[in-house]
Amino acid sequence: MTAKVALATSNEGKRAELAPLFEDLDLELVLPDSGLMNEIEETGQTFIENALIKARAVSVLMHLPAIADDSGLSVKALDGKPGIYSARYAGLPSNAVKNNEKLLTVMSEVPDGDRGASFQCVLVFLRQPDDPVPFIGIGSWEGEILREPRGTQGFGYDPLFFVPGLNRTAAELSTGEKNRISHRAKAATQLLAKLRHDPR
Ligand code: IMP
Repeated sequence: MTAKVALATSNEGKRAELAPLFEDLDLELVLPDSGLMNEIEETGQTFIENALIKARAVSVLMHLPAIADDSGLSVKALDGKPGIYSARYAGLPSNAVKNNEKLLTVMSEVPDGDRGASFQCVLVFLRQPDDPVPFIGIGSWEGEILREPRGTQGFGYDPLFFVPGLNRTAAELSTGEKNRISHRAKAATQLLAKLRHDPR
């Protein structure tokens, strides 16, 4: 029988990328409604804490094991900002266009050679809300912040995130291409290895 697991996100972009990353596992990913996700306060100071907060809350409410993604952009010239505040960088409710505009404004004086950044992703899996040994996968992806958006695919900061090796932004990659190299793909690979070898 296929096991049901709640996927603790209401972010459409994340959902679109996570579903294929987990499709090899014999799991049925069940999505909470976005109203429920909006009520969860991300009060942690790290991606790991916030991912656990989201997975735990959804596991309690849906009576299911849960997977959560907490992720964000870390800009070197901004000492790692917006980091865990990436979704709400320009305030709430979260708005990707406003977040990107704010990032461009804040970085307007940052010279071309100093615009390095990375996407960070933490994926957690809780068997139940009080699981004392959650599984955790972590991934990062290096790039540079452009001075104007390019591309229409992906979500969030993708149009500003230039990947030098590919000479394209993350928003110029298909979901399949992004899922071969992204921070989320790397975190999923780690998490999947742990799930496949779960001795319990
Ligand atoms: P979270 O829902 O609190 O984890 O916030 C994640 C935020 O980080 C998103 O709303 C985006 O702003 C940003 N982010 C995370 N992953 C990506 C990505 O793959 N592409 C673009 N932006 C991302």
